[in-house]
Amino acid sequence: MKRRSSKKAKKRKRGEGTFTSKKVCQFCEQVHKSRESKQPFIDYKNIDVLKRFVTEKGRIIPRRISGVCAKHQRELTQAIKRARNIALLPG
Ligand SMILES: [Zn+2]
Repeated sequence: MKRRSSKKAKKRKRGEGTFTSKKVCQFCEQVHKSRESKQPFIDYKNIDVLKRFVTEKGRIIPRRISGVCAKHQRELTQAIKRARNIALLPG
């Protein structure tokens, strides 16, 4: 009789602090600065902005890394997908 002891691999994912210098979402910050326009400039036509949140391969940078809040990440994703659709961005 052979017995194999299976070790359970523990999943550990915790990285705090070291990665992002900014904690505040860039777009939220924008709103703070310019109260005139409540809408941040997340737009599928704003390629310069979108590019900052997309890797060279066309992948959307996760918000853990980019530091964008959930709300704006969602808008960003939408905008990026739209931009892809009309071939403004690779993907
Ligand atoms: Zn935000």
